[in-house]
Amino acid sequence: MSKSLQAIRGMNDILPEQTPLWRYFEGTVARLLDNYGYRQIRMPIVEFTELFKRSIGEVTDIVEKEMYTFEDRNGDSLTLRPEGTAACVRAVLEHGITGGGQVQKLWYIGPMFRHERPQKGRYRQFHQIGLEVFNLDGPDIDAELIVLTWRLWGELGIRDAVKLELNSLGTSESRGRYREALVEFLSAHLDKLDEDSQRRLKTNPLRVLDTKNADTQAILVDAPKMADYLDEESRLHFEGLKARLDAVGIPYVINPKLVRGLDYYSKTVFEWVTDKLGAQGTVCAGGRYDGLVEQMGGKPTSGVGFAMGIERLVLMLETLDKIPQEIARQVDVYLCAFGEAAELAALALSERVRDQLPNLRLQINAGGGSFKSQFKKADKSGALYALILGDDELAQQVVGFKPLRGQGEQQSIAWDALAAHLATCVVQG
Ligand code: ATP
Ligand code: MG
Repeated sequence: MSKSLQAIRGMNDILPEQTPLWRYFEGTVARLLDNYGYRQIRMPIVEFTELFKRSIGEVTDIVEKEMYTFEDRNGDSLTLRPEGTAACVRAVLEHGITGGGQVQKLWYIGPMFRHERPQKGRYRQFHQIGLEVFNLDGPDIDAELIVLTWRLWGELGIRDAVKLELNSLGTSESRGRYREALVEFLSAHLDKLDEDSQRRLKTNPLRVLDTKNADTQAILVDAPKMADYLDEESRLHFEGLKARLDAVGIPYVINPKLVRGLDYYSKTVFEWVTDKLGAQGTVCAGGRYDGLVEQMGGKPTSGVGFAMGIERLVLMLETLDKIPQEIARQVDVYLCAFGEAAELAALALSERVRDQLPNLRLQINAGGGSFKSQFKKADKSGALYALILGDDELAQQVVGFKPLRGQGEQQSIAWDALAAHLATCVVQG
C-alpha cells in the first residue's frame, strides 16, 4: 500500500480483537465514576491554539514541541488537543457552571494528540480518561481521586503492579520561594548541568528536578528540598491527604522530585507508576491546579484532577494476563438455517427470541451455505450453542439445539419454548 494511504505513524487502529478489552476497561471505569458521583462531559477535540499555550504553559514539552497545530480555512490557529484539562476548564467557564462556588465533579474520555517519538506505550494519538473537580479546596477530594483509582486497580486485578508516588508543590507563593532557592543553587553549578537542564533553569527550573541525566541527578542530591519550603497551608493540606490514604490503607512513597510536566500544578501532585511496561511506566497522573481557572480569565476557582492513559492500562491487563474470560466470547448462540423457507422462519424466530431475551448474543447465519459450512461458522464464532432449522424442523415448528462446547446431546425444542430454554442455559451479561 502506498504510504499516503496508510495510517499516520503513532496513530493506531484498534481492531475488533482488541475492542472487547477496551470496552471492558472503559465500562469498568465509567461504572466506578458513576458510583462516586462524577458526571461525564464531552469537549471538542480541536481548540484554539492559544488555549493550550495559556493553560499548559509556553515552556513545557507539550507546547514547545508536541502539539499538532494548523491553520484552518479562516486563518485561525487551531490545535488537536494534547490533553483534556485545558478544554474542560474552558468549557466550565464558558457555560458558567463553576460560578458562585458550584462544585463540579467531571470526567471525560477520548483521544489526545502529541507529536512524540512513537514506541511501546507512547503514541501520537492516544486515549485518556480524565477527571476534573472544581471548587473543592480540601485534601478530602484529592484523597477521593486517589482512593477511586485504587479501587479501580483492585477491580482490574492490577493493584500489586502499581505504585503511588506523591509530592506537594505548595501554593504558588511557597513554590516561588523554592524556585528562587533552586535557581540560586543550580546557578552555582551551571557548568556541570546537562544542556537541557541549563536551558530549563532559565525557562522552567522545577523541571530540572526530573532530569534523566545522571550527572545532573548527582548534583541535585544536595539541592534545596521542596518540603522545606512548604508554607503552613500547603503542609496541612499534604498531611490531610496522607492521613486519608493511611486511613484507607493505600501505600505511597513521597517523591520530592515529582514535579509533573505541566505548568499549572500546585500543592498535590501524584503519579501511579508501574515497572511492567518498560520506560513508559506512568499509567495515571494528576494533581491540584488552584490557580489555573483564574489564569484563564475566570474567578478564583480551585481545581484538582488526573488523567490515565488507556493504551498503557490495556497493555498492562494484557501483560499481566488480567483479561477476564467472559469478554473473549462475543456470541452465545448461532442460528443455522437451510433453504429459503427455513431462513424466513429462522429470522422471525430470532426476532421473537430477541424480544424476550434482549441481552442474548444471538448471531444468525448470513450468506446461506451447506450444513457443514454453516456448522463450521457456528463453531468458529465461539458460540456455546448452535440452533438448526431445516425443512424437517420447519414442518414440526421446532429447532435443533446443539451444545458446541463440552457435554450434551442435540435435542429438539419447540419454537414457543426456545427463549425459556435459552434463558436457563446462557448466562446473560
Ligand atoms: P509521560 O511522562 O509518559 O510523557 P506525561 O506526564 O506527558 O507522561 P500526562 O500529560 O500527565 O502525561 O498524561 C496522563 C497520562 O496519559 C500519562 O500518565 C500516560 O498514561 C498517558 N500518556 C501521556 N502521553 C502519552 C502518549 N504519548 N501515548 C500514550 N499514553 C500517553
Ligand atoms: Mg509526555
